[in-house]
Amino acid sequence: MKKFILLFFCFIILVFLIPSFFSSSLLLSRAEEQNNVSSEEEVVTTQEPYDYKQYKTIKLLHKKSGEVEEIELDNYLLGVVSSEMPATFEQEALNAQSLVARTYTLYTIKNSKKHENADICDDSGCCQAWISKEDRLAKWDENLREENWNKIEKAVNTTKGKIITYNGEIIDSFFHSNSGGVTETPVGVWGGTNYPYLQSVETSGEENYSQYSSEVVLSKEEFKNKILEKHQDLNINFEEENCIEITEYTESNRVKTIRVGNINISGVEMRTLLGLRSTNFTFQFEGDNIKFNVIGYGHGVGMSQTGADSMAKQGSNYEEIIKHFYTGVEIVDM
Ligand SMILES: [Zn+2]
Repeated sequence: MKKFILLFFCFIILVFLIPSFFSSSLLLSRAEEQNNVSSEEEVVTTQEPYDYKQYKTIKLLHKKSGEVEEIELDNYLLGVVSSEMPATFEQEALNAQSLVARTYTLYTIKNSKKHENADICDDSGCCQAWISKEDRLAKWDENLREENWNKIEKAVNTTKGKIITYNGEIIDSFFHSNSGGVTETPVGVWGGTNYPYLQSVETSGEENYSQYSSEVVLSKEEFKNKILEKHQDLNINFEEENCIEITEYTESNRVKTIRVGNINISGVEMRTLLGLRSTNFTFQFEGDNIKFNVIGYGHGVGMSQTGADSMAKQGSNYEEIIKHFYTGVEIVDM
């Protein structure tokens, strides 16, 4: 009888407990699977949108020496802001410049792979201008060094951790020296497609800066030779009326196309060939010379630096300046 009872218990164990053990372990493994799935989903969501916080330091290429320096991001930005904008500008303009510089830096790292072993370089023609603190201080009058440097530090600290976004994406924060009163769209300069946040906007007060107007005077012969450098098939007779004629303007009233004799040249190319400060120019014949009157300085896209300073003088803060030059953007913590 005892044997029978023992066998009965064994049977009970086999029939009920063992399957329940297996099923509970099955449940457990399903739960783990669920967890794995959701943790994978979490990984995906933390990677999109882009994780800017990873940039505690950046690799800066010194173009002349070829050396790559690992430098803390905000420390790098001190060298950019103090190189790109005069420290005599208003504090809010410097704040705007530091926000533009941080945004431009992280956009460049994310979207353009110009340099193999570095994130960005110190050449303004390639990436973004940068100067060491030592070299910067040496270029300022001794009695202005502390005050100027404090303004640069304040600009970077005020905007610490902040970037400019449009629809949640970091923007390509173009900037230039002086817009001449109205900024340009990217299409007007580089063709291609426009960016929704880079519209043509007007700014008052830009005429008060030395960057606003300039002129280039060339003899007819000098002018012809400069065009011939790129267009050997040029045929021009200066005796003919309308031998040079602006035929097309961009949305912001800059020169889009100009006809020189038998050749059509874009305003952008003409600017390069003649060394004009912008594509916003007119010209007139003066005896044997041609005089080009130029308004503004730079390509005209995005934030105008003198425009930012002018707005700051009129009481705008850096957020208002940024939102004026970049349409529909947000300023967010990265
Ligand atoms: Zn570069």
